[in-house]
Amino acid sequence: MRALRELLITGGDVIDERGTRRADVRVRDGNVVEVGPDLARDADEQSLDAAGCVVSPGLVDLHVHLREPGDEEAETIETGTRAAARGGFTAVVAMPNTRPALDDAAVVSSVLATGAAAGLCEVVSSGCITVGRAGEQLAPMGELYALGVRIFTDDGSCVASAGVMRRALEYAASLPGAVVAQHAEDETLAHGGHMHEGAWSSRLGIPGRPAVAETVIVARDIELCAVTGTPVHFLHCSAAGTVALVRAAKARGLPVTAEVAPHHFALTDACCEGFDPMFKVHPPLRTRTDVEAIREGLADGTIDAIATDHAPHTPEAKERPFEEAPPGMLGLETALAVTITELVDPGILALEDALALLSWRPAAIAGLAGQGRPVEPGNPANLVVFDPAHEWEVRADRLASRARNTPFDGRTLRGRVKHTLLGGAPVVIDGEATR
Ligand SMILES: [Zn+2]
Repeated sequence: MRALRELLITGGDVIDERGTRRADVRVRDGNVVEVGPDLARDADEQSLDAAGCVVSPGLVDLHVHLREPGDEEAETIETGTRAAARGGFTAVVAMPNTRPALDDAAVVSSVLATGAAAGLCEVVSSGCITVGRAGEQLAPMGELYALGVRIFTDDGSCVASAGVMRRALEYAASLPGAVVAQHAEDETLAHGGHMHEGAWSSRLGIPGRPAVAETVIVARDIELCAVTGTPVHFLHCSAAGTVALVRAAKARGLPVTAEVAPHHFALTDACCEGFDPMFKVHPPLRTRTDVEAIREGLADGTIDAIATDHAPHTPEAKERPFEEAPPGMLGLETALAVTITELVDPGILALEDALALLSWRPAAIAGLAGQGRPVEPGNPANLVVFDPAHEWEVRADRLASRARNTPFDGRTLRGRVKHTLLGGAPVVIDGEATR
C-alpha cells in the first residue's frame, strides 16, 4: 500500500516524555509536521478521529518470538507483526531462538528483509551471544552488530557459563550501544520443572522451577556487569528477589536494565490449578508476593520496560498435558490493555509512566532512534492512538496472531488500540490492520 502523504489525527490527548496536552497531530511524508489545538484540515487530507483517545509514540517490544525461520506454523514475521501493529507496537525485537538461530549474518539479514517487506512494524533483530545458542563459543557478534544488532541474547536458554558470559560482555564492550540480555534461569536448578516451585506446585504434584534459579544468575551477572562495565539487560524478570537485586545494582550505578512481561504482573501460580497449559511459561508465573514486588519495581523505576515475551505455539503443541506442553504465551495484542487494567486503573502507575515502560524507555535500551520519540515536528510518525477506557473481551479466535495461546482468553480488559501509524502510514485503522 502506498504511504498516504498527509494525514491529520484530531481531538486526542498527546502523551509523550514531554507530558500531556490536547492537540491535533499532522503527519506528512512519514514525519510529524505540526502539533497543536484545532489544526485546520487541508482539502485532500485524510483524517483519523482520536476523540477520547490518547496519541502517543508507538509501543516498542524488546521481546518477541516471531518463530520465522523454522516454526512458521506457529507464527510468521508477517502474522506476528500484524499482531504487533494491532497491539499498538511500532517496533519489536525478534528473539534468536528460531531454526536456524539468529547467530549468522545471512539469517539476521533475511529476518530484517522479511520484516521490512511486511511493512507492519519495525522489525529489529536480536543476535545470539553464542553459536547455535549452545552456550559455548561466541557468535560473530561484530558481524551481527554491523547489520544493526544491538541486543545480544541466547533467549530461550540461559548463558550458563560465567566464563562465556564474561567473554561476551568483554567483547560487547567494544560495540557502542550493545546490550547483553540474559534469560536468567539456572537449568541445574530449574531443569525438569514446569511451574513455580512452591505451595501450588506441591499441591498439584507438578515439579517446580524455583525463584532462586533466576536470582542466582541475576546476582552473578550483576557482578560480571560490574567488572566489565558492559550494559546487561535482564529479560522477563519474574521473582521478588530479582527486583531487589536490580534495584541494588542500579543504586551502585551499574548499567543494568530489566524488563517484565504482563503475565508476570497480572497472573500468579494459582492459575495453574486447573492444569491448563495456557498458564505454562518460562520463567513461570510466581506468587502474589512476587507479583507485588514486580509492581513495586515498576512503580519506583527499578524495572525499565514492559516486554511481552510473545511466544506463539500451535494448538497441537499447546493442547497437550501440562508437563508435555511447551512453555510460552501470546502477548502482543493484550499487553497495553493488561497494563492499563492491572496497573493504571488501580493507580499503581500513571498512564504516562506506563507508556514510558512500553515505548520510550525500551526504545532507548534497543537504541532505536526513530521510536519512542516525542510527538513533535521533525520526528518520525511512529504513533499509536488508543482509547484507554474502551472495554473489550479478549477472544483467542479473533487475534491476528497465527497462534491462539493467550492466557487472557475470555477476560474483559480496558484499553483498546484504535489506530497505529508506522512511518506515517496507518497500518491499523479502527482496530483493523490495513495490510
Ligand atoms: Zn526467555
